Amino acid sequence: AFCCIFIIIFSQSAYAQQLNDPVIEKKVNELLSKMSLEDKIGQTALRGTSSRSKGLSDELKDAVRRGQVGALLNVMNTEHVKELQDIAVNESPNKIPLIFARDIIHGFKTIFPIPLGQAATWDSVLVAEGSRIAAKEATAKGIRWTFAPMVDIARDPRWGRIAESPGEDPYLASVLSRAYIRGFQGNDLASPTSMLACAKHFAAYGAAEGGRDYNTAIVSDDLLYNIYLKPFKAALDADVGTFMSSFNDLNGIPATGNKFLLQEVLRNQWGFKGFVVSDWNSVTEMIPHGYARDEKEAALKAASAGLDMEMTSQAYENHLAALISSGEISMQQLDELVRNILRIKFRMGLFENPGFTEKDLNYHPDHLEAAKKAAIESIVLLKNQTNILPLNFNKKKVVVIGPLADAPHEQLGTWTFDGEKEHTQTVWAKLKSTYDKDHIKYTPGLKYSRDKSKDGFTSAIEAAKDSDAILFVGGEEAILSGEAHSRANLNLPGIQEELIHELAKTGKPIILVVMAGRPITVGNIINDIDALVMAWHPGTMGGPALVDVLSGITSPSGRLPVTWPKTAGQAPIYYNHTNTGRPASKDNFVHMDDIPVGAWQSSLGNNSHYLDAGYAPMYPFGYGLTYSKFQYTNLSMDADTYSTDDELKVTFTLTNTGKTEATEIVQYYVQDKFGSTVRPIRELVGFERVHLKAGESRNISFELPISKLAFYNAESKWVVEPGEFNLWVAPNAAEGLEASFVVK
Ligand code: BGC
Repeated sequence: AFCCIFIIIFSQSAYAQQLNDPVIEKKVNELLSKMSLEDKIGQTALRGTSSRSKGLSDELKDAVRRGQVGALLNVMNTEHVKELQDIAVNESPNKIPLIFARDIIHGFKTIFPIPLGQAATWDSVLVAEGSRIAAKEATAKGIRWTFAPMVDIARDPRWGRIAESPGEDPYLASVLSRAYIRGFQGNDLASPTSMLACAKHFAAYGAAEGGRDYNTAIVSDDLLYNIYLKPFKAALDADVGTFMSSFNDLNGIPATGNKFLLQEVLRNQWGFKGFVVSDWNSVTEMIPHGYARDEKEAALKAASAGLDMEMTSQAYENHLAALISSGEISMQQLDELVRNILRIKFRMGLFENPGFTEKDLNYHPDHLEAAKKAAIESIVLLKNQTNILPLNFNKKKVVVIGPLADAPHEQLGTWTFDGEKEHTQTVWAKLKSTYDKDHIKYTPGLKYSRDKSKDGFTSAIEAAKDSDAILFVGGEEAILSGEAHSRANLNLPGIQEELIHELAKTGKPIILVVMAGRPITVGNIINDIDALVMAWHPGTMGGPALVDVLSGITSPSGRLPVTWPKTAGQAPIYYNHTNTGRPASKDNFVHMDDIPVGAWQSSLGNNSHYLDAGYAPMYPFGYGLTYSKFQYTNLSMDADTYSTDDELKVTFTLTNTGKTEATEIVQYYVQDKFGSTVRPIRELVGFERVHLKAGESRNISFELPISKLAFYNAESKWVVEPGEFNLWVAPNAAEGLEASFVVK
């Protein structure tokens, strides 16, 4: 059936041309020819420092002077940046500038929503604007390299770093990957406000078994190419300057010493011309992994795999010279690593302009406005059963309860080293400054998300009784997600559920706003609450953004970038899974509590589901409500059969049938029904944000080159396999209008 496959050659031409700039290559080679072995090894070192308060150590200055450092991490005092750069460009043997690096993940000072929240915006323009702003603020402090974006696909909400991920879908993640890089690196990497980006963590770090951070990743080639590598390829296509190798082993080989990843995929297949940095000590972590006997073997394995720069550990510094003299690493191999690093330093314009702008743009009003917009668009309305939202704070008496209503530090989320809580605007602060105090009252009930003291319950319950509505702002403190912060349970921490149960007994409607780094399982309290609003960790402007949405100034427009489970036991969970040989039972399953005692297996059906949680998630990927309603009608396709070089066109009508203007995120999904490997039940192939006034209708068309349906198949080829396909135009991954077509 798949005899005439159509091979798509992944285009590398535009990218490769740009990076093969002969002028730069000439400069790199000239410089390299003047460098001693020690000078070369020096370029491969990324030294960690924490020089914020301590002075600069003489040891570090001497190391820079001797040319033993290629880049520095976390130098946060601009005077120190200047001093070190001065030494590098005036006193070091070859006068090669340093690169100053830091994790600028979702903002420098002005903090945007955590990356998972930004993914919920499905808005690449906004994401690019956010990373441009981060670059402007950070480069003014001399930081020209960020360890972002993290483009690890995350299918398991137990994994703490899902907060930092673009979610579960390779298409959405690829769009966002390009947007982040566009923003960080700007149009010209040599501009002093451009920040070198780093696509991390290469690769399959998000596939950590059981969602436990750093854990082994066992990933077939099929999954690797079709899911995990896609956003990295997108980063490469967006001209990202650096990649970071991940901590995990991939199918038994640590990524940092993994030739297949660093050589075969990145260099041979993709033609990457920038440099690869290890993760923090990930070279020497190959020893406890059981992959290298000692530091020397770790250096050998990393260098042989093609790891260009070593972060913080010093295996290269201590052993590369000996490895070269023993011939285990050739000078040619070392030259290649150094060439990759120098090429980027030239492209960054550091030789011509090693300084920085020093134009302090922190918390510029435009930046705060953009951060607010991003926070607004990241908010996902998951339940609004009684239409309790939007809330009229002028007419209703609202009591604000919960540990995150006024927790400036917590709402910034994970990976915010530089954002300051003094600049952060909370929900309570915004309400207090906007509305009459007779209408709003704040009794937190709990001091922090894990608080187990009931001391605050009584006053919260009393205040609730005297209100028209309860606004409960809860979730997870920032520290409960992020690196090494995986959780085995996904419900609201501490005794938040208990407080919500108690509040529900007052009979007052409850609006639950969740701030968290991951989907939170809400099965225990879903019947207690009237509305559920997911705000992720929304950043500096989270408060004003939430108040705009809750009060109806703006209709919510975020959509889930990850599937939301009913219970942690459903993880890993993602929409683009394959089918089993059994029909999916959706939710028509017999719950184990309802199985008659002594029942025979056969009477219950043998579907692939959980007896106590079924098959379906709580909310599907792509899901999110607005204050209006959208209707999809009149779906038609321009043909029913296409050839592999055609473009399909689908047309439909979208109508806002509600009473208020709102934004719909229209999603396009395809299913390749039969393949040489089993194919996902749906895959996102496009989306768009459509804003419609109340009652407005729009005819929309979407075009998709058939070549985009290529996948990495059973014969290890990127092909469009002819056959039958389904297509959906949909509000989320579980619904939509369906059509079908054939590729010949
Ligand atoms: C993380 C990286 C980060 C690096 C430097 C590591 O622990 O995994 O994502 O860029 O530290 O801070």
